[in-house]
Amino acid sequence: MARTTIYAANWKMHKTIGEVEAFVQTFSNYDLPTGDHEVVVFCSFTGLPVLRSLASHLGGTYGAQNMYFEVQGAFTGEVSPAQLRDVGCTWVLVGHSERREIFGESDELCRKKVQAAFAHGLKPMLCVGETLDERRAGKLFDKVKTQVVAGLDGVPAERLADMAVAYEPIWAIGTGETATGAQADEMCRYLRGEVAKLYGADAAGTLRILYGGSVKPGNAAELMAFPDIDGALIGGASLKPDSFRDIIVAGSGK
Ligand code: PEP
Repeated sequence: MARTTIYAANWKMHKTIGEVEAFVQTFSNYDLPTGDHEVVVFCSFTGLPVLRSLASHLGGTYGAQNMYFEVQGAFTGEVSPAQLRDVGCTWVLVGHSERREIFGESDELCRKKVQAAFAHGLKPMLCVGETLDERRAGKLFDKVKTQVVAGLDGVPAERLADMAVAYEPIWAIGTGETATGAQADEMCRYLRGEVAKLYGADAAGTLRILYGGSVKPGNAAELMAFPDIDGALIGGASLKPDSFRDIIVAGSGK
């Protein structure tokens, strides 16, 4: 089935309010391809009100890079799904490898966040990926399958179209080292097959599975040409409006 390609910017812990404004102003002047794709920007919490006020210029939707799963309460320093909806988020990243590796987020916590996102009308983008050691030890498929199966636990088939999975090999994030198209495609296809075992092929065909890890204007076309790669989650190369645009342009030949 046809799936809308997603080009998602993960700005990580970058951009002041003024820098968010400047990005949107520049980006809104671009003549982007009108193909069947969705642009999403994942911004720090402090930039979200800016994206809300400039939403009509962004030409896409936006979301947060993290949240807690509870609605409210004594969770100092956390942000709830209801608060993200309140500031106009459509999407939320769940289980980015930096959250898993630096802040110790478990598969079980990610599962709760996916559930909480759906319960509050947010679309979760569940991030999964293996380390270089896991890849070298041949454990990549087991690792990533475990993360996906745990994250999808309790998600009904009809909600798969309202979320995405981002396959991001940890060794390719922020390193300049990109998975080859064949490596990325192999994992995305494998994951769709595993999701099909749980939900059936039709439902699995509605899930967007993105690739992330040093995507740049120069490699976007090759990666996006694979039919099972439904878009890109882009860190460093999304910080500048022109390189984010160039990735969308390069990929949109798809
Ligand atoms: C990311 O932050 O999700 C990411 C893929 O980063 P980069 O594109 O910089 O590797």
